[in-house]
Amino acid sequence: MLLVRFIHPSNGLPLAGTMQGSSVFAGDETFSVDALELLAPCIPTKIVCVGRNYADHAKELGNKVPDKPLLFLKPPSAVIGPEEAIVLPDSERVQYEAELAVVIGKRCKNVAASEAGDVTLGYTCMNDVSDRVAQQWETNWVRAKAFDTSAPLGPAILPYREAVEPFHITLRVNGELRQDGTTSDLFFSIPVLIETISAIMTLEPGDVIATGTPAGVGELHSGDRVEVEIEGIGILRNSVE
Ligand code: MG
Repeated sequence: MLLVRFIHPSNGLPLAGTMQGSSVFAGDETFSVDALELLAPCIPTKIVCVGRNYADHAKELGNKVPDKPLLFLKPPSAVIGPEEAIVLPDSERVQYEAELAVVIGKRCKNVAASEAGDVTLGYTCMNDVSDRVAQQWETNWVRAKAFDTSAPLGPAILPYREAVEPFHITLRVNGELRQDGTTSDLFFSIPVLIETISAIMTLEPGDVIATGTPAGVGELHSGDRVEVEIEGIGILRNSVE
């Protein structure tokens, strides 16, 4: 069973439901997922992203994995859902980054790594869309990482209890495989990330921790179709405007 949010086809209101196969259930109604406009599956108050958390990706950008998780934020205004357009900022070089996103289920602070599962609602896919030109000169990565549409999320949340780790992550551009990784290569594990981040700030239900990207990042151009796929969760598809 997966958790989704979508627009009700008759009244146009956002609704949460569960999905099994291609059927979506909400209250006493059943829909076919193909007929629905899916929304981002959660409404974060913040997205906490982890940089350089896979050694092979850190290396391809000429960096090392840091001693402590390298953290940055994306605001809620960066979020888009499945099939929403990524609008490129005015930049020579914008890249995709396929990531496993952890969705928080409970308000929490100072969570021990051993208790991380208790505050985890589940997992979804994220594309950490990044402006590399801004990232080169800007220390805080606000222009590089926080622009509108820089956080495609979805299509669904796989509940924590149903998840089988590690996750296999792939990314395709126009059908061509560009990234192929596994969360078994995460340098800082998900429980360690939750412990580290919740020691800094209160996490709220729906908040997202983006766990980093494996090797293979590359450019996005207007007209591209980008897909992040995580086994067991689904495929997050977006076009680039
Ligand atoms: Mg990233």
